[in-house]
Amino acid sequence: MKTIGLLGGMSWESSSEYYRIINQTVNRKLGGHHSAKSVMYSVDFEEIKKLQHSDRWDEATELMIKGAQYIEKGGADFLVICTNTMHKMASDIQQHIGIPILHIADATAKKIKDQGINRVGLLGTKFTMEEDFYKGRLMANHNLEVNIPSEKERQIVHDIIYKELCLGKIDLGSKSAYQKIINGLINDGIEGAILGCTEISLLINQNDIWIPIFDTTEIHAQTAVDWALGIS
Ligand code: GLU
Repeated sequence: MKTIGLLGGMSWESSSEYYRIINQTVNRKLGGHHSAKSVMYSVDFEEIKKLQHSDRWDEATELMIKGAQYIEKGGADFLVICTNTMHKMASDIQQHIGIPILHIADATAKKIKDQGINRVGLLGTKFTMEEDFYKGRLMANHNLEVNIPSEKERQIVHDIIYKELCLGKIDLGSKSAYQKIINGLINDGIEGAILGCTEISLLINQNDIWIPIFDTTEIHAQTAVDWALGIS
């Protein structure tokens, strides 16, 4: 079994989900007392959040590279960056380490294509919804059509992530707001919805939405297990 490297803490609320899903999936596949071999480096999210919101991405990249290097030195065979947003600097990180990165957008796109879906809605931080590193990658590398909410709705989605979900706060009003926004995208013709932030599945799941949803946390964690066990 390969050792999974986890660059986490963004936020720890979702990193703990990665840890749980990865270990449960390994145990389901191998039985007995099997669990995953993993190395995690977890950041102080306050530092990262401040750098993101003051547009100091170079400094954030430095921190991410350092974390990834610790993980490589710790013996990981590949790297899982436990956040969609911080894939913004995935190629910079890749240039500074010798182990491969399992890209969250690629893993998610594969699941979407496997279901024969071409047009998806994307919910996540404003960075993820608006910038090319994520939406552009889904479109250019995977031929997906990607719809995002209106500007006002994107702000709502973003604020709920940072002010509530990353702090472990689950609010029913916020759940309805997300459902309403996804329903608006369904009216525009999406066939599936990407929960493109690793905390969103703490708030909504497949029971709340009638079209297929793609939970990036679960997909990324399960694909990491496939890589670790040599399944793909
Ligand atoms: N975990 C979130 C994501 O998947 C947002 C937190 C962050 O800024 O990394 O994008």
